[in-house]
Amino acid sequence: MNKQIFRVLIFILILISVNNYLISAEKLKVYISVDMEGIAGVVHREQSSSAGKDYNIARKWMIEETNAVIQGALDAGATEIVVNDSHGSMRNIILSELHPSAYLITGSPKPLSMMQGIDDSFDAVIFIGYHAKAGTKNGVLDHTYSGSSIYSIRINNIEMPEVGINALVAGYFDVPVVLVSGDSEVCFQAKELLSKEIEVVPVKEGIGRYAAKCLPLNKAFKLLREKTKLALKKRSKIKPFKLDPPYTFELEFNFSYQADYPELIPGVKRKNGRTVYFVIKDYIEGFKLMRALIALARSQ
Ligand SMILES: [Zn+2]
Repeated sequence: MNKQIFRVLIFILILISVNNYLISAEKLKVYISVDMEGIAGVVHREQSSSAGKDYNIARKWMIEETNAVIQGALDAGATEIVVNDSHGSMRNIILSELHPSAYLITGSPKPLSMMQGIDDSFDAVIFIGYHAKAGTKNGVLDHTYSGSSIYSIRINNIEMPEVGINALVAGYFDVPVVLVSGDSEVCFQAKELLSKEIEVVPVKEGIGRYAAKCLPLNKAFKLLREKTKLALKKRSKIKPFKLDPPYTFELEFNFSYQADYPELIPGVKRKNGRTVYFVIKDYIEGFKLMRALIALARSQ
């Protein structure tokens, strides 16, 4: 073999190995937003409030469900996993107990709240521990962003659970929500609203607002792991959730006084005693304004 041919052969071998490396290193970036009311075992504020006497055991279950989903994402070949703590103070997940493969976004307030950290570099979004929208029969701890102030939130005339409001944030960045877990009611609402193609894991069935029949934990963890892998594998079949702009946000508060301050913001109009609305072209700007209005409503 002369030197010239030898050099060409070496060059081809290098090309093949680089190509193989690139194939094996296909990017799969997964975003996980974790709420608490939809975690198996959680049915009361004594568990979901950081001041509650059963809070520490509930946050342990929350971390364990999160770790099961992280394991499922790794099974599917995830190359980067970001977990956003999305409940209450957003300081529920203990970093030292979280699976060491995941990054953790913790604390609040955050500009994008339950969706902080999402951008167009992600390939899929997963919601776990989620709950049904305010006013859902048998929805365990049902509410929409604020139990104390929100009666309902409508976007372009569709009454939204947090699943929908947050999926639209992911949709803004062209990222699909591929799996939702929580009680059976939120799983039903997610399938109805987002897509029949998404995977759901109902870890408990509501018997009322404060009661549920729960899966055994080992079964819940197994299902979460398996369905996460399945959902990520079929992610290309699931479309990001989007609505056509402009966006009309309508916030109906529990009490009329809660609309008094929100009405003062430029562009926000009063519809009736307890309802305000605004129209906006950019969904993320609308999402942020919605949250500011809720904070104002809660400030009195
Ligand atoms: Zn929550």
